Amino acid sequence: MAYSYDDQNIFAKILRGEIPNNTVLETEHTLAFRDIAPKAPEHVLVIPKGAYVSFDHFCNAASDAEILDFHRTAGRICTALGVEPGEGGDGYRAITNAGENGVQEVPHFHLHILAGRPLGPMVV
Ligand code: C5P
Repeated sequence: MAYSYDDQNIFAKILRGEIPNNTVLETEHTLAFRDIAPKAPEHVLVIPKGAYVSFDHFCNAASDAEILDFHRTAGRICTALGVEPGEGGDGYRAITNAGENGVQEVPHFHLHILAGRPLGPMVV
């Protein structure tokens, strides 16, 4: 599958430093920042620095190091937010939207981590 990446998307511009962001954590391969229009008291986006359009693109094409770094960073975000259900936190929702049916607005793979209030049943 050939994926087409638009390097003018807003997260590509954030990664190039052309647009500011509210960074929570940055590693070699991953950036986590606060969503500009939060849908919950805590709303962090975790994105790979590599040019991946969607979750499937990332999983299929990224290196082991990138995939490991991404997931470790997401885990560290949950810890930093204090939302881990097994550790006394109240839990969270981690979701990614992909493509037209997934209603993905920004065509650079990102994981939403939402927390800080009851999020209700997942709506599909
Ligand atoms: O999953 P989806 O592509 O719809 O989500 C894009 C997210 O990126 C939105 O939650 C939006 O608020 C966020 N965003 C942002 N900073 C920008 C532009 C969009 O946090 N400059």
